[in-house]
Amino acid sequence: MSVVTLDQVDKQIACGFRYLRFSPEIEALFRRDYAAERVRLAVIWGVIGVFIYDLVYFGDRTMLPDVFGALLVVRFLVFTPFVIGCILAVRRWKNALLYDVLAVAIAVLGVTLPMAVATNSTSAYLFVYQNGNSAAFLFFVIALRPRFFAVLTGLVLMCGSHFTTTYLTGAFDDVTYSGIITFYLTLSIFLAVSAYFLEQKDRQNFLNQLRGSLLCRQLEHNAERDELTGLLNRRSLARIGDVLWSDASGATPISAILLDIDHFKRFNDFHGHIEGDACIRAVSDCIGTAVDDASSVFRFGGEEMLVLVAGREPLQALAMAERIRTAIEALGIAHRGLGDACVTASLGVASARASETTLEKLLQKADDALYEAKRMGRNTVALAGVPGPGVQVA
Ligand code: GH3
Ligand code: MG
Ligand code: MG
Repeated sequence: MSVVTLDQVDKQIACGFRYLRFSPEIEALFRRDYAAERVRLAVIWGVIGVFIYDLVYFGDRTMLPDVFGALLVVRFLVFTPFVIGCILAVRRWKNALLYDVLAVAIAVLGVTLPMAVATNSTSAYLFVYQNGNSAAFLFFVIALRPRFFAVLTGLVLMCGSHFTTTYLTGAFDDVTYSGIITFYLTLSIFLAVSAYFLEQKDRQNFLNQLRGSLLCRQLEHNAERDELTGLLNRRSLARIGDVLWSDASGATPISAILLDIDHFKRFNDFHGHIEGDACIRAVSDCIGTAVDDASSVFRFGGEEMLVLVAGREPLQALAMAERIRTAIEALGIAHRGLGDACVTASLGVASARASETTLEKLLQKADDALYEAKRMGRNTVALAGVPGPGVQVA
């Protein structure tokens, strides 16, 4: 399914949709939404529609007694199973086009079948009988509510069928017949215009809702992300910590890797804050490529980043930290404050079983290890609880 951005939705709202069509990405979402909504209503309207349609059999019996048997077959053995089949099909495939096609088929069949039988009747009540089809026109547009172009197609086919069958009854003089045509054409025009505006309203509501949910998602995203780096921010640390601890069994190891860029004050002094920002961004991107999918990367402070990961043994976390360290070094960002040297970082790693530690304790241990890495001369990785020279993993 295509991804739609807030910008695309805003553009669509600004340029409108006079021809009842959105840009392809938004149109795909609209159709999915439309199909889901109509399928939900299909069962209700299908059952109500068929029930009323079959009730008219009492009318058949009084108005057209001479073809009553055929009408019984048409209503109960042809139309009713057909509608049930349509309901099952739209529920099975949930497709906008299929819904529209079947809605048109139901409407056309619904007006055609009884009137086709009525062409063999000599009843004096044929005029009253054919009036009943106006209910089918209304049901098609107001209850089934297919999209505008399906409404147009359906109304044309229904009018065509109704005018043909009423003509074939041979029961009406010219004035009555032209009255029937005028009535159904007028009804169809009113219904078509209403269907156009109804769909326009539907589409407007859809765009507003889509905009609302995208805006909401963007706000949630912004609230959780650091503006400069796009990494998770400090505010989201507690939430992710809760997720990690609640997902992990007591025996699962959880690791924290705390990173601090070396001599960064001096970097700012020599290169300026703008380049300093770019350096923080480059280091952040680099961390993103060096960790695995299970890791969450945070901007912990100014030029300090944190990686949290569950389910990795301490040595695996240490190897990941070393990967990050070498990747940053390999960026080769010149640090004029250190002569010919490049930007590097020091990292502290701490791991513990989920049941034996808390986020705060783990961060404290990682911070102690980071301090140890700085003390050992920087550009190195230290593992918490391992005293002595910084641990370098090849
Ligand atoms: P050490 O190797 O001990 O870490 O030395 P350091 O100079 O990096 O010391 P420290 O980590 O305390 O310095 C952090 C510096 O990072 C201070 C501040 O000027 C800079 N800094 C913090 N946030 C930002 C930022 O968003 N942009 C820029 N350009 N600089 C920042
Ligand atoms: Mg720092
Ligand atoms: Mg630093």
